[in-house]
Amino acid sequence: MRIADVKEDIDHELVSREQIDSKIQEMAARVSDDYRDKNPLVIAVLKGAVNTLVAFTEALSIPVQIDFMSLSSYGSGTKSSGTVTVRQDLSADVRGRHILIVEDIIDSGRTLAWLVAELKRRGAASVEVFALLNKPSRREVDVDVKYPGYEIPDEFVVGFGLDYDEHYRNLESIAVLKPSVYQGEQA
Ligand code: 5GP
Ligand code: MG
Ligand code: MG
Repeated sequence: MRIADVKEDIDHELVSREQIDSKIQEMAARVSDDYRDKNPLVIAVLKGAVNTLVAFTEALSIPVQIDFMSLSSYGSGTKSSGTVTVRQDLSADVRGRHILIVEDIIDSGRTLAWLVAELKRRGAASVEVFALLNKPSRREVDVDVKYPGYEIPDEFVVGFGLDYDEHYRNLESIAVLKPSVYQGEQA
């Protein structure tokens, strides 16, 4: 789906599909070099990181394994609830593995900080992060992102996997919604 298909809901496009693809290619080249002999396990947090994970792993030039985890830190709206719960766990044993977490966006950093600590607690040999988007102005918890994508302003974005109340995940690029779309949301 393109911006034009939902233009009545979109304020503006923030990251074009060309920009998304070029950042993913750049990071995939770096990761392919860094992990060539490490048999990495690539982990994505459902559902938002799925689009990034697929594009990213296709762009790698090394074989990897893939696993998923479903975490909940947000309700249906645009504000974090501040606590992380596991909705669906990994199927892989991470003990002794080199882990690369692929994230869609880092906002407060709470979800990622929790996940990095949890994977280390389970005995991972190393844990690094590729995050396509980052909102540094919103950071509450420090997280070390070895493979950073684009820094964006403090605006709620949708598209390329990111949703508002489960809508707009299948938008091909990343965009800011019109305020009218959120009207009536409880803060
Ligand atoms: P954090 O724990 O860093 O505050 O937020 C983690 C998760 O919140 C992200 O992986 C994403 O699912 C959601 N999130 C944070 N900011 C945004 C945003 O601007 N748009 C959307 N759709 N989700 C967001
Ligand atoms: Mg995420
Ligand atoms: Mg969401």
